Order: sequence, then C-alpha cells, then structure tokens
Amino acid sequence: MLRVAWLSLLSLVFSLPASSQAPDIPERGSIEAIAAATTDPHFISPSVSYVPQSDKVPSPEKFFGRIMGAPGELVGTEKSYAYVRALAAASSRVKVFTIGRSEEGRDILMIAISDEAGIRDLDRLKAATAALADPRRTNAATAEKLISDARPVYYFNAALHSDETGSTEAVLELAYRLAVSEQPMIRRIREQLVVLINPISNPDGRDKMVDWFYRYLKGKTDRSTLPRQSPPYWSKYTFVDINRDTHQQTMETTKAVHRMFHEWHPTVVHDLHEGMPLMMTWNGTGPYNPNIDPITYSEFLELSFREVESMTAVGMPGVSTWNFGEAFAHLYLDSVAMNHNSIGRGYETFGNGSAETEKRSISAGSTQMQWYHLMPPPREIVWSARDNLNYQETGALVALEETARQSKEMLRNFYKKSWNSWQKGLTQPPYAFLIPQDQGDPARVAQMVGRLIGQHIEVGRAQRAIQLHEGNYPAGTFVVRLDQPYRNYAVDLLTAQNYPKNGEAPYDDVSWELPAHYHLEAIPTADPSIRDVSLTSLTDTPQLSGRVSGEGAVYLLKDTGQESLLAARYRLAQFEIQIAERSFKEDSVEFAAGSWIIAGQPGLHDALQSTASELGLDFVQVSSSPNVPKHAAKAPRVGVWVPWADTDSIGWIRYSLDQRKVPYTYLRDEDIRAGNLRPRIDVLLYGHVDLELAEQIEGLPKAWSPMPFKKTAQTPSFGTPAESDDITGGIGYEGLAQIQRFVNDGGLMVTLGSGSALALEGGLVRFVRRSSGGVPRSTAGGGSSSAASAQSATRTPGAHVRVTFDRPDHPIAYGYAAHTHVFRQNFPLYNIPRRWLRMAYCTTCLDGPEDRSGIVMEWGDSEGKPLVVSGQVWGEENLVKRPAILDMPVGKGHVVSFNFNPMHRDLNRGDQRMLWNAILNWQAILAASSPADPTHPAAEPDDE
Ligand SMILES: [Zn+2]
Repeated sequence: MLRVAWLSLLSLVFSLPASSQAPDIPERGSIEAIAAATTDPHFISPSVSYVPQSDKVPSPEKFFGRIMGAPGELVGTEKSYAYVRALAAASSRVKVFTIGRSEEGRDILMIAISDEAGIRDLDRLKAATAALADPRRTNAATAEKLISDARPVYYFNAALHSDETGSTEAVLELAYRLAVSEQPMIRRIREQLVVLINPISNPDGRDKMVDWFYRYLKGKTDRSTLPRQSPPYWSKYTFVDINRDTHQQTMETTKAVHRMFHEWHPTVVHDLHEGMPLMMTWNGTGPYNPNIDPITYSEFLELSFREVESMTAVGMPGVSTWNFGEAFAHLYLDSVAMNHNSIGRGYETFGNGSAETEKRSISAGSTQMQWYHLMPPPREIVWSARDNLNYQETGALVALEETARQSKEMLRNFYKKSWNSWQKGLTQPPYAFLIPQDQGDPARVAQMVGRLIGQHIEVGRAQRAIQLHEGNYPAGTFVVRLDQPYRNYAVDLLTAQNYPKNGEAPYDDVSWELPAHYHLEAIPTADPSIRDVSLTSLTDTPQLSGRVSGEGAVYLLKDTGQESLLAARYRLAQFEIQIAERSFKEDSVEFAAGSWIIAGQPGLHDALQSTASELGLDFVQVSSSPNVPKHAAKAPRVGVWVPWADTDSIGWIRYSLDQRKVPYTYLRDEDIRAGNLRPRIDVLLYGHVDLELAEQIEGLPKAWSPMPFKKTAQTPSFGTPAESDDITGGIGYEGLAQIQRFVNDGGLMVTLGSGSALALEGGLVRFVRRSSGGVPRSTAGGGSSSAASAQSATRTPGAHVRVTFDRPDHPIAYGYAAHTHVFRQNFPLYNIPRRWLRMAYCTTCLDGPEDRSGIVMEWGDSEGKPLVVSGQVWGEENLVKRPAILDMPVGKGHVVSFNFNPMHRDLNRGDQRMLWNAILNWQAILAASSPADPTHPAAEPDDE
C-alpha cells in the first residue's frame, strides 16, 4: 500500500526537476527503474534520479542489464573491471590504470576521469601537483603559475570494508555520469578536476562478499533472522583492520593507494564506508591532531558542511557531520592524505550489508535534531541498496562540485600546507631527529627507518661524526632533517602523542609513536648546524649486515634485544641451540641472559653465515662453551588457533610470522575440536579476539549451521586462507576440553589480549579473578556513546605504558631491561592470583593469600616513573601493579597470558620479542615448576 503511494509520489518528484536534467536526455527507462528501486522520494536527489543517455558510451544498465543499486544483485571484481575497461574504450574522458595487485593475485584498477584535454594532459597535471607538493623546488611565483593551469585531483576509494557493499556500484554509476553528462555542473567538474575512482580497493574481499551474498543472503529481507552477513575473511590476513595500517603499509590495498598518492598527489582522498544512518560525512569531534596543518581542518569541515547543506536542501533526511571519530588519529587508509598535506575524508552511509531491501530501525540518538544533524530520519524506514547509492553518489557530486568551484584555492592551500610544514622545520626546533644505529637491534633500527622512507619522509645517513650542542653522534647515524615538506608527519611519527585527558573517547589508538613501538630512540636536536652535516640520502630500507667472526668450535650470539631471534631460530631449525639463563663474560665482553650458545655441528657454519647476513645478527666463535646455566631451545612446533568468529587480530600474527618465514600450523575451530593437539604441536598460540568469553567458546551461532566456507562452483572465492565445511559452533566445550588436555599433557599455551579471557576466565587457569575496573577492547571506540559508561573505567585505548618485570630472569624478559614499556589497548583487568578463591557455600569467607609467583610482568614502573610513555590513560590507579604477563603452571604444562597484544597490526615490533621469548624458551618455561611453595596449585597434578 505504502509502496504504491510512494511510487506515485516518486513519479511526481521525478517529473518536476526535468529542467535540472537538461541538456541531458535521460536513458530510456532509467527514471522509472531508479524510482522503483528507491523506497522513499526523500531518499534521492534530482542529480542521481536518472542516468544520462549516450550513443557511444555504455551505461551500467546497458552493460549489466540493470541499474546500479538494483535490489538483490551485487557485482564482483571481474564484471566491474570489464565495465570500467569498456567505459575507457568508449570514452576519451576516461583512462584505466592498474595500481596494485592483491594478496590473492587480483589486480587493483583505478580510473581517471576528466575532460578530453585533462586526460591528454595527465602527465603534465601530475607533474604540477608533484611540484606543488615540494615548495623547496617550487617558489611562490612558480607555484602561482602552476596553479593557474593545474587541477586538483579528487580520489574516491570504494569497497574497502567488504560488507559495506554499496559503494562499488555507486562509483561505477558516478564514473559513467561524469564521463557522459553534459549538465553544467558535471562539465565544470570535468574541466576543473581530475577525478580518480578506485571501484574495488580490496578485490579479494569483494569477491568473497559477493559469493557470500548469493550463497547466504540473497532473497532474505527479514533483518531479525538474517544469518551472519559477511564471510570470515575480507583479505588474506585482515578484516576491518584493512583500513588501519596507513603508518605501516602492510596490506597490498594500502600499498596501492599510497603509490597512487605519491604519483598523483590528490588534493582529496575520499573513502566510502557504510556504518551510520543515513549519511555521516566525517571530520571528527576533536581533539584534533596538532601535527596536521590547521588549514586542513577548515577545509574538511567546509566540504562536510557543504554536503549537509546541499543534501538537506534537496530534502534528503539524515545527513550529518561531526559526531563520528575524533580526528586525532590519522591511521586509516584515507589518512595518507591527511599525513601528507592533503585532505583525507570519508562517508559513513547506511548500508544494509546486503543488496536486499530491508526494514531498518534507527537508534534514538540518530533521530534527534542536533546542530550537526539538522534533519534526522524517522525511527523506522525501509531501506534499499539504491537508497544507499543515492546518498553516496549525491554526496560525491556535491563534494566534486565544491572542489571544482574552489579548485584554485584548494591547490593554493595544498602548496601552502607543504610550505608551512617545510618552514616549521627551518625556523623552529627541533631541526632534526637523530636515530643512532647502535640501539641493540640493528634490524629494528633499519625497519623503523624503512617505514619513514616508505612515507616519503626523507632520511639521510651522516657521512662523518656529528658534533651538536646536545652531544656527539658517530658516522652512520640516521638523520631526519625537518626542513622538508613532510616535516609535520615526521614529527607526528617520531614524538610522543599527548591525547587530551578531557577529550572525547577516542575511536582507535591514541599512540603511534614509532620509537615507542620499536623500543628505540629518535633524538630531537635544536642545533641548526645539523643542516651543515653531509648526509647520504636513503631511498630504501637500510641493508643489514651481520657476520660470523672469531675462531673456535662454539658459536655465541649476544642477546641485545634482537627481534629477529625467532626468525633465526627457524632458519637454524635443525641445529641444537642453548640459551644462557644468566649473563656471562667472554673475552671481557658481557653476554646478557638470553644469549645463544651453539656447539659446532655439521653444516652449522654455513647456516650461521647465511642467517647472519639475512637477519643482521653477529655470531662469534669461541674455543669452549661458557660456564653458565643454560637450557635447550628446540624450535617448537607452533599452532595458531584462528576462531572463525573473529579472524582479524590473529591475522596480524599470521602476517608477522609469514613475513619472518616462521612456520606454524593454522588451527581452525574444527582442528581444536578434533583434539590430539599435544602430539602435533608444542606451543598453542591464541591471539587477541574481539569476542566475549562465550563467543570464544561457542563461536558463530549454530542456528546458522551448516555454513560452509569452501571453494565451489557457486562460491569460487571461498576457502582462502582456510576452508571449512561449517564455520559455526566454535570450539565448543569439547574443544575447550581438548585445549585443557593439551596443556595438562605438557603443552605451552600463550594467550594475548582478550584471548587471555579464555584461559583465565574459562577455567584453564585457576585463581585469577577478573577485576571490575577494565573495559574490553570492543567497547573502546565507536564515538561518544561509549565515553560516558567507560568514564570511570581503566582505559588504555592504544597507548604506550610503562611496565616492570617482576621476574627479570624469566625467559620472557630476555633482551629487555627490568623497566620497559609496552603498547596496551583496552582489555579486561585481572587481579593478582591467589592460592585459592573463596568457596561458593561460604561467600563471606576470605580469599586465599595472594601469590605473585606467576606474575612475570606488572603494569606500571615500580620505581615511580609516569605510567604513560605516549598516548593517554584513564583510571590508571586500577591498572598499576596488576599483572601484565602471567605464567601459570597447569598440569604438566603452562599457560602464559598477556594482558596486552604484542602483535598489534605489525606496529609494536619492540613488544614482539616478549612473545618470541615465550616461543623460543618454551621448554624452559615448561620445565620450571612453581617457584613458590609446594601447596601452590601447580603441585596438584589434577587441579582442574
Ligand atoms: Zn567501513
């Protein structure tokens, strides 16, 4: 009934703005098809209510046989790419580029759209934006000349998060419209800008999602009974985190967008997401990051308000801005622009996660009028894929129109921001950062320098020793001079973050300081004479050089905190290695606990030489084995359990192990359930998961069973990186029993982040009680709604905080000082273990005495240094002195639980050694019985 009324209203609305279509002729049937797919006449604007007709260029409808955003259909990578190629073949206003290749081998395509002159002139236009990006070689007069015939480049990124399914079709229609429409607004956009469109930035995830839709979601419109809406993987390693690696550039999608950025220098990088009703145009609530030029904030607020204004004016409800994220952290895909003097922005539109039309409820908070949300939507709406597309495409057109209108001013701002950044480095300290080479782990120094270079931050190497006011540095020291256009980003990456304590709840991490992540120093200098130092400029990650030296039958490797020891152990897997448990001296050289002692073995010398040069490790030959307590350190068989219910964070563990060529067994829920674990693996690694305890055990609801994730003719993209006959049901209690058996039988289980809840709260480890003060990571972000409830709780939302080793001679401490720091997100807090906890029948009984013997490391600096190294912490009094790492004996095995995640997105490489130590020294950890008295639970063989 309602539907009929809407349709007649729609035809009325669509017949009215016919003048706004001129001089375009709508393609036959397009107005009706679009109207039919739109559920409410308010959910559309005149500019996207038709598709212009063209004799020459294929419209999406001609190519796909349907309009974009038609209900019940989703287009995959192959057909989308065929369409953009057809578009480019037919139109001299469109050009296609391949900008990357995904982990699974799919191309990542991008199209450029401009008028004919613009497309002919792309090389000149790219050279112009590149010249504006570097004011050292482009003075103000030259810049003005360049600006007069340069164009802003506006880049759209679609389909990054795979279950946000609408943007691909929105940008395909946008591309066609921009190429063929003769409306004055579109002509201006073509003449003033170069528009870049990446229709499927993550093609691996897109194809999995399209298969998932047709296999599990098609035809289902009742939201209350929908099955899981997304495949378990969106890429080889990550899920949502695929847009959170701008600083480290790990995913191929990210690398492709970064390469694009440094080739085109787009003025705007615009990412299309679908997580808020009905359209949120991002710019954050603040606090804003002080290392971004203030011009940028004015620019992105202006663009957002323009979108709100324009779309509200045509009667589209629910377009808002401001109240999403904080814009302090710029760690997302679009942040490549924010961090390099351009504008990074994005939309959150209202996606159904499916191409079907569904009845949706809008939360009360999103239906209230606010200054940033002037025309809220009703509580209940019927929402379609086309509605979502209408919002995305209308918004995009407004943004393009505004950019075209201000094209010269935006180019001038881009130049000015680059100039400001460079000038700051010339006129105000610090003038440079010095990164000494000799900081324990040459590999980590090289990796950190490599990451800076990957961001086009210029790094040089001192040709001679440097004398500065602050001190002297040897030749070879890495120098980041700050008189460069990306000075602001260099400062952001190399100094501590200070998130305001009274600021809004942050959306994600509050610290990304690289020296903190890498446990290295980058020393600022206020001595301007650093500019007179001769530097060799670096173009790539510095090469490592390790060697084998000396003479004798025994080889030693000094532990100076090297992160590459784990990789080295597997390069040398077939050889026997022992690890010193105390420091010792050899030829008056001090070898710290953790150093390796390797007796001569056939083939060893050559293997050490290749390991030394690959990983930058130095082995020394001596005549005899030093007299020091030591233990065997066989390379363990590692199993990594990846629950089907959350593959995201553990994907980063797989990524890091793969990068280091460390072998492991991928364990699915069904592999855990099948048991027989101890004969197959020595160390069971269970990473952080964003799941409550019950979800960790029971997994995806069995109500959806069976839910295969397997390559078939109908689902050719399924089955990677792992396959399943049924991803529902988790490990169940039978799987939990198998893990318990694994540990009882003498296995080492290592749990990270919220994965530790399974061990400590699931009953594998006894006598550790969860404290009420902490918040799980899943409530960490999401804007201000979580702020109030979490106000009093302990929050470390991605901050670097100090820790102290309670057991500095525990193998996990090898390579670290007794006082150090780690990166911590929001996780539950755990109390100090007790010998026993009170009995159920006696709730007034006291708990048993505290037993600190299992605490390897505690939160806080026991000598009183401030907790925060970088970022911010709330409610720290509840955190300090609680366990950060526990090593608890269980049966014949041990469980090591981290109350943080040392494997966070391949960022906190300085923390990783703690995990590597647990793996490398697994036998020693298992061999250690309880250091406490014999009444300790560990002495009970059957304490479960
Ligand atoms: Zn998203």
